[in-house]
Amino acid sequence: MEQTDIKSLNLKELTKVIENLGEKSFRAKQIYEWLHKKQVSSYEEMTNISKKLKEDLTINYPLTVLKQVTVQVSKIDGTRKYLFALSDGNVIESVLMRYKHGNSVCISSQVGCRMGCRFCASTLDGKVRDLLPSEMLEQIYRIGADIGERVSNVVVMGTGEPMDNYENLLKFLELLTDENGLNISQRNVTVSTCGIVPKMRKLAEEKLQITLALSLHASSQEKRLALMPVANKYEIHEVIDACRYYFEKTGRRVTFEYSLVAGVNDTDEDAAELLSLVRGMNCHINLIPVNPIKERDFVQPSHDHVLNFKNKLEKNGINVTIRREMGRDIDGACGQLRKRYIER
Ligand code: SAH
Repeated sequence: MEQTDIKSLNLKELTKVIENLGEKSFRAKQIYEWLHKKQVSSYEEMTNISKKLKEDLTINYPLTVLKQVTVQVSKIDGTRKYLFALSDGNVIESVLMRYKHGNSVCISSQVGCRMGCRFCASTLDGKVRDLLPSEMLEQIYRIGADIGERVSNVVVMGTGEPMDNYENLLKFLELLTDENGLNISQRNVTVSTCGIVPKMRKLAEEKLQITLALSLHASSQEKRLALMPVANKYEIHEVIDACRYYFEKTGRRVTFEYSLVAGVNDTDEDAAELLSLVRGMNCHINLIPVNPIKERDFVQPSHDHVLNFKNKLEKNGINVTIRREMGRDIDGACGQLRKRYIER
């Protein structure tokens, strides 16, 4: 018999499995709660389940559990950067950020990435494989267990392009926000994309209450193309239209991420062009001073320059924040911890 990833099943699917094993269906709910509410890492811990059933499950329904390889803890703000090993030996990184409003975890959605954004360390070695729904959940479960506190917010902004792993992403979101599981509010979940238009439109039609973040990073097609190869496939106005569509369908304000790179996309003209690009939209712009990676020579603008760019946008009624740099002391850009580990 083929093996089934039990932690990626929803309650309905799990109930079928349990019934096929000749058990009463209420057992499925008990097991589901062990997996997703109590988040155990072995069948042994399921104290109200019979030995026989646990043995049956162990054979064909292996539990996906991530192993913590390392954790780096910031002395400045308590940010924790984790490296986890998957069962096939691949490693991924996840980050815990502590805010006044709660604990937020940034997860990876793929091992590596094939999108090729010029400034990003996660894509330098390409994509190895997609992550399973269970492997996305486990990043949150293991971090929650490690700190012994509840995780209240999740951002899919780590390594990988979530829209390039769409079916698994959707299943992950279903399980993550399920009231029988961790029960995270959809409003506390953000999914970030480099702009895969058909999938953004599809996501809009799911009518979820999650936040969509678009990695925009430039205000013209030409400049965006110089930073993001994905712009070859989806032109900037097409991507913005997909964001408008997302707002129409869901009523959720879209976030634009804009990494400021000195001399590349940070001039007054860039700010003006950005304003006209998003005119009339209910949006929020998050400015991210680019995090330099050693493989490229991108440079951060000065803090004053970033503030100036922000003011230009704000004066025109746009909601703008500058991303707080969390865990400055433990690491550089996303993807660097994993990359360094592999190189060693
Ligand atoms: N693939 C998705 C999510 C992962 S990247 C996406 O593209 O949105 C998360 C965010 O970090 C994206 O906005 C990405 O463009 C940005 N990013 C990646 N490397 C960066 C760097 N070195 N400096 C600043 N932002 C970076």
